[in-house]
Order: sequence, then C-alpha cells, then structure tokens
Amino acid sequence: MAPLADPCAVIGQSFRVTIPKELPLASHLCGLGAICAGEFNVSPHTHNRDKCTAVTIRTRFAPSPNGSLHLGHAYAAIVAHDLARARDGEFLLRIEDIDGTRSRAALVPEMLADLAWLGLEWDGPPVFQSQRLDSYAAAGEQLKAMGLLYPCQCTRAEVLAAATQLGPDGPVYPGTCRGREVDPAKVSGGVAWRLDMAKAVALTGSLTWTDEIAGVQQARPELFGDVVLLRKEAPASYHLAVTLDDAAQGISLVTRGADLFASTHVHVLIGRLLQLCAPLYHHHLLLVEAGGTKLAKRRGSAALADLRRAGADGPALADALRACRFPAGLSLGSGIQEAP
Ligand SMILES: [Zn+2]
Repeated sequence: MAPLADPCAVIGQSFRVTIPKELPLASHLCGLGAICAGEFNVSPHTHNRDKCTAVTIRTRFAPSPNGSLHLGHAYAAIVAHDLARARDGEFLLRIEDIDGTRSRAALVPEMLADLAWLGLEWDGPPVFQSQRLDSYAAAGEQLKAMGLLYPCQCTRAEVLAAATQLGPDGPVYPGTCRGREVDPAKVSGGVAWRLDMAKAVALTGSLTWTDEIAGVQQARPELFGDVVLLRKEAPASYHLAVTLDDAAQGISLVTRGADLFASTHVHVLIGRLLQLCAPLYHHHLLLVEAGGTKLAKRRGSAALADLRRAGADGPALADALRACRFPAGLSLGSGIQEAP
C-alpha cells in the first residue's frame, strides 16, 4: 500500500527544519518564524496554507478530575501557561473526564479555582472530554474502515502472562487476538480495539516529530506494540483521545511531562493516520520526590485547594515554582522510574 500523503505537503508546503540544540531555548521560542519551523500547522482540519503561516502559539493544560490538583500539576500548568504567554499565545484548558470509575465532576470547579488562585488565566471555556465522545467514536470507525483496528478480548492478566517484551508503557501485547475471529457482539464485557501497529507503520512510512528541547525525533511507535485505542471500559484510550483533542483545540505546542515523551511516538502515528497536522512538543521535567518518584496526592503532596483555603498566596507560590524554589524534598526529574 502506498504511504499516506503528508497533509502539510498536500498544500505544497512541508516545514522541516531542525532546531539547533545549541541555541538557548528563549532565542528560538521567540524567533521569527519559529512556529512554522516545525513540521506542523495549527489548522489540522483545513490544511490551509494561510492558517499555517498566520500562526498563534496555543498550549493547553489537561487535568483529569480523578483527584485534587497538587504542586506537580501547578508546575505543569505554569509551564504551559508561561510558554504561551511569552509568545503572545493562547493557553487553553481541557478536562479529561472520561474515566468513568475515577472521574469526579465535583472536583472540576475546585481545579478551576486552584488555577485562578495561582494567577493563571485561560482562554475560552474549558473543553470536556465527556462532550467529545462522538469524535472518538468517529475516529475509531475511520480506523476500523482502514482495516487498522482489531477486537481484543484478552484480560489484563492474560496480556501480562502472554507478554515477552517490555515497552515504554510496560509489557507489550504480543498480538494474541490479531487475525482471530472475534465477534465483539458475542463477548460479554465487551472488547478493546487495538491498533495493528505493523500495518499502521507500513501505511504512514517513517515519521518524525519535534520537541523544542530534545530536537527532531524519529517516531518509534512500534516500541509500544498493538496499543489499545478504544477501551472496554472507556470511550477512548489516552493515546487516541489526546491526539484528537489536541487537534480539535488547535494546540500548536503540546507541553507535558517528560514521562510522556515516548507516548508521542504513538500520537504522531495516530495523527498521521487521521490526517491531522502534527503540533510541536515541549516535554518538561516534573516535580519529583526524593528518589525520583512522581508527586501524587496519595503520597501526601499537599492539595492546592488545601493551601488555597489555608490562605496561602497563590501567585507567590507560582513565582516560587517558576524560580525552581521548591518545598524541601522536591526537585525536578524525568518522572520515569527505572524498573526494579
Ligand atoms: Zn487479545
């Protein structure tokens, strides 16, 4: 099968420029033409040359209301906010609320209050993933029609037992159900739909993506194996939802923690399969505890809401985080734990 066309090349213009690593970050962030120096435009659905050249930097912060925001979230939100504002760009919010078992709607107003307390202003109303289910389903159908998804009825335990390789997300699914006759209607509890990775990679051909800090990357989605795109218990996997959402919101600079760096290989692949133009990425270090463990509310990291109610100075806290003045025991790290 012929490789899919580069959607940016369709309009007769493909931007591929390597960002020199030796340049200080600020000098290329604000440099002339920096936006279209990457391989992307901000108008993923129109592929319009004018929109690609008249670009506004747009970032987003996308918390899940599964627990209260803590200092690690504050740091990530500030990075996204400040990178946009430093370039006269826009900072958007997205609420990732499709985890039916853990998502709590009551936490959303608290999160918004936390961000406002930190002195962060966002552009436009937040987008809720729970209101975008039709988009996820439509993309799923599109990929099925392309012959790229297959139903998998394996349990988590079966996947763990069958896996022989370790990928960036843990044990790699060995493709047990690929090529099997599975009738989704006859499987109690439903099926997950997995991406046939080899087929997908053959279709797109070689892909690259650009991280502002790490430079141009060769996409290696095959490291993940046949990832789940439509989950049994949720409308979409993280990989599918985040790729679609970023495109739909016109996010031109995806900022997120370095622990998600490898996931970008999969997102770039999905974006190309669905003919979305790719954003630029900025993976930043995360706030970690001693030993490199990611901050988590359950391990005692203070909830922003508690600090806010206790009368703490939100903008002063934000400025301290900007200056890397962290509370005792916290520092910046990749958030990626070495396997024991
Ligand atoms: Zn399976």
